[in-house]
Amino acid sequence: MPRPPFYADGIRFECQGSGKCCTSRGTYGYVYLTRKDQLRMAEYFKLTLKDFLRRYCGKKDGHVHLKNPEDFPELKNHPVSDCIFLKNNACSIYEARPEHCRTWPFWPEHMSPKAWNKEVASFCPGIGKGKLYSESEIREILARSEE
Ligand code: SF4
Repeated sequence: MPRPPFYADGIRFECQGSGKCCTSRGTYGYVYLTRKDQLRMAEYFKLTLKDFLRRYCGKKDGHVHLKNPEDFPELKNHPVSDCIFLKNNACSIYEARPEHCRTWPFWPEHMSPKAWNKEVASFCPGIGKGKLYSESEIREILARSEE
């Protein structure tokens, strides 16, 4: 029988508005967008999908992602490692934000004790606070991340 995951008793998490997960670090260099994200965000900006993709997105290994600040001359004073939509530690497009952001911190690549401690618990102030996510809720969120 497989061993229960380290989150078998659930994990408490509540966003504290630190904006830390909106800053690229090491391998976490991009915010990826699903097709649904692209359509929702294009509508939010009142752009056609084509224009939204041209203005805000790039592609890596076949996956669409948000461009980084250096791609926008008007963002020359924006911290280079911050998401283009992060303003004063808050997401300026919160209602339209991508699934990648909605599913933080429960990303498949975080769900080993080592990765969790290194990539999440050590710097996200929302861990251990607020709502208790049960194992099944975490699994549901992980499944969404993998869509
Ligand atoms: S889109 Fe919003 S929530 Fe997602 S990384 Fe950028 S600022 Fe953060």
